[in-house]
Amino acid sequence: MIVVMRWDATDEDVRGVERRLAELGFTAHISRGRERTVVGAIGDRPPDPDAMGLESLPGVERVMLVQHSFKLASRDFRAEPSRVRVGDVVFGGDEVVVIAGPCAVESREQILETAAAVRAAGARMLRGGAFKPRTSPYSFQGLEEEGLKLLAEARERTGLPVVTEVMSPEAVPLVAAYADMLQIGARNMQNFPLLRAVGRVGRPVMLKRGPSATIEEWLQAAEYILAAGNDQVVLCERGIRTFETATRNTLDLNAVPVLKEWTHLPVVVDPSHGTGKWRWVKPMALAAVAAGADALIVEVHPQPSRALSDGSQSLTPKNFEDLMREAAAVARAVGRRLGLPAAADARGAGAVAR
Ligand code: PEP
Ligand code: MN
Repeated sequence: MIVVMRWDATDEDVRGVERRLAELGFTAHISRGRERTVVGAIGDRPPDPDAMGLESLPGVERVMLVQHSFKLASRDFRAEPSRVRVGDVVFGGDEVVVIAGPCAVESREQILETAAAVRAAGARMLRGGAFKPRTSPYSFQGLEEEGLKLLAEARERTGLPVVTEVMSPEAVPLVAAYADMLQIGARNMQNFPLLRAVGRVGRPVMLKRGPSATIEEWLQAAEYILAAGNDQVVLCERGIRTFETATRNTLDLNAVPVLKEWTHLPVVVDPSHGTGKWRWVKPMALAAVAAGADALIVEVHPQPSRALSDGSQSLTPKNFEDLMREAAAVARAVGRRLGLPAAADARGAGAVAR
């Protein structure tokens, strides 16, 4: 952090800044230019300019951060990409992991059929909401614990680990008892008690980006989970709110290379919520893989026209198969791999119980 002094700041003003920094545990590094003096704050934790009161001191013009406001999530803290493991699935390695399944678990038949279909097409994890964050209180809210049980049954039958959303700190133990990975939904990205609660539980976490969150704020949210002791965190870009109304959200694929530079945490892209329209899911999934995403999460429903939520952005199993085939080609082109190993890739070979 750098404190820029006003042109008319006195030596006493500079000493005042130095004293305040010392009180806060930082060492001051003073450089006197011809027109200005700037004071660098050197310390081993990210400074929080809002809480330091420096801008209120006499002679101070402005305070600028030169480092990010997060630490554990940063590349300075850990230069190597992190690998996050869910069973035998690894996020952040050579493989582009594909997670697929319905928006919501609706019935036993629906989740078992979808799980078998996405597994056969090469998905490595199953998604499905049991607690749904719906904009309207009159919309389908999810099957709750019954939905978690059905997800667990689908896992038994297919061997696919399960990711599902948890919406409140109180529900963390229940959801963690069934799920292999906990999803923090976009609307809860800054639910700090929830972030702390998933930080204390020994389950990997997928943290979705808030619809209006900057990348920096998103990484600060991840920092809550890391700081609470859980280093198994993946980030999921799912589109942000912009002035554009043609798509449900604006999928910010810029976030992928930015995150790769700023953080060691693996990056997932959700082209389903990012576009809101099934026809646009595949092109954006391919673009995400090309941009360097470590994983995709895609909504698939056996009968999208009958889905209780997000049918318009859900792929049929057949369309999901097409996506997988093309995404595997893009992955190969960028030096990654995606989908089933060649030997298991024969049509229909995957849909069996383990
Ligand atoms: C979801 O994954 O079904 C979901 C609700 O996503 P988001 O939190 O990104 O809106
Ligand atoms: Mn959804």
